Amino acid sequence: VPSLATLPRDLATFAKYHLVRRSVKHPAREENLGIVPLSFDLERYIAAVRAFDGDRFAVTTEAEVEYEGRRHPILSARSKADADKTLLVLAGVHGNEHAGLLAVPRLLEKWSAGPRDGVRLVVVTPVNPVGAAELSRYNAEGYDINRDFVRFYTPEARLVRQIFEREKPDFVVSLHEGPQDATFMFANRFVTDDAARELLDALAKGGTVLAEKDYFGMRLDPAGLSPSTAAARAVTKLWGRVLGMKTTIAYSEDLGIPELVLESSWSLPDEDARVRAHVDLVLATALHLRRARR
Ligand SMILES: [Zn+2]
Repeated sequence: VPSLATLPRDLATFAKYHLVRRSVKHPAREENLGIVPLSFDLERYIAAVRAFDGDRFAVTTEAEVEYEGRRHPILSARSKADADKTLLVLAGVHGNEHAGLLAVPRLLEKWSAGPRDGVRLVVVTPVNPVGAAELSRYNAEGYDINRDFVRFYTPEARLVRQIFEREKPDFVVSLHEGPQDATFMFANRFVTDDAARELLDALAKGGTVLAEKDYFGMRLDPAGLSPSTAAARAVTKLWGRVLGMKTTIAYSEDLGIPELVLESSWSLPDEDARVRAHVDLVLATALHLRRARR
């Protein structure tokens, strides 16, 4: 882990959020992260996801989060076909990372047109609706939900835990964005090397540019993959024990479930490219799960 002093300023700014669970008491906007805004509108988004309720998907309001007198839903979209594997997608854990949210209607559209057997899709979105409405990483109380998988202070993390318990996923994909200049993914120790390479190939084939470095400036080999290492796992354990912080990917690892966290580049102005990476990764993961059962 490089020291903060050696990092370029924007990366250092970002890295600080890995050290702070609650920096504010409200869903703060941050103007200095270099996020290129996409055409995201929360109400339109919720309506677009709800419109998939029908033959192929059951769309349900899992919870509502109140902020400044308004109630914001957290939805789930669950595919209806019979399947023995479940793929859980978490979209919008950080409300200001919009590509993973915008990917959901496209994903549901493509899923509807694809094969119906083998894999069940469960999408939870937006996991942080107040952040999505307020263009913030944080929830209504200023907590980073993706640090809250030890203590479960936030209703959003408790809901995700409840959905893990109910849906018993075989694989989890979390959709995020970051300040690095291209796309990469974190994998926990239950994602096999073969699976990771297959999924990277699928991303590259779809036109996604794979990052040579992660957002700490660490070289990625192969490009696009930040694998689980013994050192990283030790840091994660310590982080959980000392600071009481844990991300979804470490929570999945505790449960023995493979998880990938996709990080597209929030500095890219090309909306289509940012969104496509998320759609492609989820579809490729489903294909991988389908093949694995044969
Ligand atoms: Zn994120």
